[in-house]
Amino acid sequence: MPDMISAPETTDAAAQKLAEIHQRMAAALKAGGRAPDAAQLLAISKTKPAAAITPLIAAGHRHFGENRVQEAADKWPALKAAHQELELHLVGPLQTNKAKQAIELFDVIQTLDREKLARKMAALKQEKAETAKADPHEPPFPRFFIQVNSGDEPQKSGLSPSELAAFHAFCTQELDLDVVGLMCLPPQDEAAGPHFALLAKIAADLGLSQLSMGMSGDFETALSLGATQIRIGTALFGARD
Ligand SMILES: *Cc1c(COP(=O)(O)O)cnc(C)c1O
Repeated sequence: MPDMISAPETTDAAAQKLAEIHQRMAAALKAGGRAPDAAQLLAISKTKPAAAITPLIAAGHRHFGENRVQEAADKWPALKAAHQELELHLVGPLQTNKAKQAIELFDVIQTLDREKLARKMAALKQEKAETAKADPHEPPFPRFFIQVNSGDEPQKSGLSPSELAAFHAFCTQELDLDVVGLMCLPPQDEAAGPHFALLAKIAADLGLSQLSMGMSGDFETALSLGATQIRIGTALFGARD
């Protein structure tokens, strides 16, 4: 029922949630002595239908994240065609065999987490450069965040902090990928602050300016420790099924 999508009360509720998060962001940035525009809110819309997303777009929001390629392929091409300047980030694990599909959907891939995926991306970038010569309207190749397994958890993807300098050099110097920052998902059973601080330190050492860290439950801590991208799902869209 398309009429429901643009019902004013839906839009108002979404706009209000968005404004609340922006207020909390502003307060946390101010408390940390950071500029009001030092961080960007990414609305993580995984599991949520397009009807939950369009009110945020109507309220002026432009930056979104999804964690699955297939789900993004189902929802986002139509949204992107209908609205200018949407920026979509992949924040979930990426299988190498979905890399080609991912670069068509996402502007930013936050989960560059292993050599095999990096090599695949470099090959795709090379291919794209060939087609771009023929078609100047080709969109730019995605930017990347390297995912860091800050707690060295065996079940979690991402580079160990100790492997990061070498991996970063490999991706940027050998493969010519556009790595703009680091992202992490701290262990669930630990305070997030020390993990955010570690990520900030490594990024500074590597000369990387962007830090994707902080979710609904801990984004204020992340902002106080230098986050430039916070990834907010539940606090904007409500609980997921
Ligand atoms: C789901 C998800 C989020 C959002 O989490 P909330 O706690 O709902 O804000 C952030 N980052 C990643 C990688 C996610 O998968």
